[in-house]
Amino acid sequence: LWDAKLTSAVGARSAKPLTAELGLVTVGDLLSHYPRRYLDVDQVSTFAELRTAEGEMVTVVVKVGHSDIAPYRDRRTGRTAYRTEVEARFADGPVWMTFFDQARGRASGRIERQLSPGSTVVLSGRLTRNHYKRGRWELTHPEVTDPDDDPTVLLPVYPASAKLRSDVVRRAVRLVLDAAEDAPDLLPSRLREEHRLLGVAQALRWIHRPQDRRQAGAAARRLKFDEAFVTQIALAQRRHRQRSEPGRPRRGRSGGLLDAFEARMPFRLTPGQDVVEKEILADLAAEHPMRRLLQGEVGSGKTVVALRAMLRVVDSGGQAALLAPTEVLAQQHARSIRALLGPLADGGRLGAADEATRLVLLTGSTTGAARREALLEAASGAAGIVVGTHALLEEQVVFADLALVVVDEQHRFGVEQRAALAAKGADSVPHELVMTATPIPRTVAMTVFGDLETSALTELPAGRATIQTTVVPLAEAPGWIDRVWARVREEVERGHQVYVVCPRIAAGEAAASAWETGEEPPEDEPEVTSVGTGALGALETLAPALTAGALSGLALETLHGRMPPEEKERVMLAFSAGRVDVLVSTTVIEVGVDVANATMMVLLDADRFGVSQLHQLRGRVGRGGHPGLCLLVTGAAAGSAARARLDAVAATTDGFALAELDLELRREGNVLGHEQSGRRSDLRLVSVLRDSDIIEEARAAAIELVRGDPDLATEPRLASAVEDLHRRASPEYLDRA
Ligand code: ADP
Ligand code: MG
Repeated sequence: LWDAKLTSAVGARSAKPLTAELGLVTVGDLLSHYPRRYLDVDQVSTFAELRTAEGEMVTVVVKVGHSDIAPYRDRRTGRTAYRTEVEARFADGPVWMTFFDQARGRASGRIERQLSPGSTVVLSGRLTRNHYKRGRWELTHPEVTDPDDDPTVLLPVYPASAKLRSDVVRRAVRLVLDAAEDAPDLLPSRLREEHRLLGVAQALRWIHRPQDRRQAGAAARRLKFDEAFVTQIALAQRRHRQRSEPGRPRRGRSGGLLDAFEARMPFRLTPGQDVVEKEILADLAAEHPMRRLLQGEVGSGKTVVALRAMLRVVDSGGQAALLAPTEVLAQQHARSIRALLGPLADGGRLGAADEATRLVLLTGSTTGAARREALLEAASGAAGIVVGTHALLEEQVVFADLALVVVDEQHRFGVEQRAALAAKGADSVPHELVMTATPIPRTVAMTVFGDLETSALTELPAGRATIQTTVVPLAEAPGWIDRVWARVREEVERGHQVYVVCPRIAAGEAAASAWETGEEPPEDEPEVTSVGTGALGALETLAPALTAGALSGLALETLHGRMPPEEKERVMLAFSAGRVDVLVSTTVIEVGVDVANATMMVLLDADRFGVSQLHQLRGRVGRGGHPGLCLLVTGAAAGSAARARLDAVAATTDGFALAELDLELRREGNVLGHEQSGRRSDLRLVSVLRDSDIIEEARAAAIELVRGDPDLATEPRLASAVEDLHRRASPEYLDRA
């Protein structure tokens, strides 16, 4: 029965909308469409709990109030008809229902029967606002659930769609629930016992028709485990495959480049860097390609660790490529690596040390003779280190022996791009180190990046000062903007430099963050107030205004993504060299930019940035041992969600805590690369935020299973569930890593 078509199980008419709206085709599909929540039939709903947008289908418990019957002329028939309006109450406000009927007798009869004043009923229908009646809430043509019809206290509410009511799903599920007995049980019974999980048939019965919340909870635990288990098996298999790919060990040599660098390094590695380096060097020495994710706050010293790994492969006769997401970053990496290496980067030059190598930079703006030379040095192997942007991925770029690929800020690169670079390895798959400054909550790392080993740098190198973050609320205190600029001037007078960051280049334009960084902009808040800084947050308007007014006399430059690369490079160089006091920019300065003397940042219309982005941005200051100051200027009203977000950023510098908050705000559906709609998706019940325990349990079990039986030869059902997952999953989801 499980695989039977819905058309035969519930009839063509009922099946049609289930297929069209929710993509459900078989009985099994329908029974795997789990309730989103349960409605306590004993408890009157509140608007507050609904969190539903206008126009959506809802299922609610209301208390019935009085009703009015009004006659009107039916335009079609020309006859008098009756409209019955019933007032019902949520715990926190009224909602109106309208029923149209041909004849007065029928309307009132049905309503009297089902909606007698004072009774509590369950209604499903579309929630709308009637703007002719002072915006009152209405339920149009609601379906009334007859309690006698379904005598449970907990009413399952299903993910529905704009066109399909939850109770239609519920009725269909009731018709086919017996088929739960035929559901294939994916879990070996050994695992079911070990993890104290229900059998699948019982879990399905309880998830759809629980007697109480305990049953619903136990059922959810079992079904979540299945989901997480299948995903984790897919990831474990991928890891297993990668581990069995042949790679070339790169063990380096003593007296080589790494040792020479050690001797001239201006600081010692922190204990944390030491640990991570050992992990990386051990991977590089193995027979299989490294696949490692290195997480660490901005400024935690990832780049130095990566550089040392690059030197190790150069010592082994190989080459390393460093892929950066933007031109500015690639240039900065090249500059700072060159500075760290000093003469060790002058390989091939007269008088250079024997162990020296050569570093080349290859970006979109490398053209003509410089490009030809860079290509030649990469192809001949003369360049031990090649730093670049997407330009590195082009076909003409060839390496003599690419041994290590370092990807900076991985979330900006797609899988295909990384694969394109990895394919440039001559006769072996290169080792790969992926770095990210966006802290990733542990469970997301487990699910989305489940096939990478992870390392983390959790402490900042000594000498790093704190950053104080303050919200400047222009909604309440518009005059404070003058104090902001006065403070900027003060900072410059103390010999420091200041970043001023605008969300957009020109006034009236969408926030620049979205198109310049590829990051999701924060969801638009309906409550953005008219007090918003508006033109203030536009770089082209602000910069001249500051030069002419509040910051006159200071050396001020602008930087944004639409400037030609040479111009950007010139400005960044001037700022790094201390010749610019105030840099007014968009988010191009976001990642990796490192100017020790910059101590203050002003973020305009800060509510326009996402939580993680704000955190990244402020990481630019306080890097040189001087305390940093970050001002979040906003026009968002006190008490708004936008302000709460800014307050959260101001309250903590814990990147992991902020990443979790960000995840919550963005809704995990987006993080995993698919919307959380009513349609079938790959993680139906499991929440990467709330179910970390289950995910972890499932992960351990999956790893163990795959270790003993990589192809799942002994578990054909699981094997086909995993295959199914591969077929369904958006490539983005499994391939995110
Ligand atoms: P990330 O790439 O993680 O943002 P970087 O590697 O750019 O961090 O390091 C930030 C700054 O800290 C750089 O100026 C770097 O030279 C310096 N740094 C890195 N490691 C140490 C250390 N162990 N001690 C002192 N300074 C360090
Ligand atoms: Mg960096």
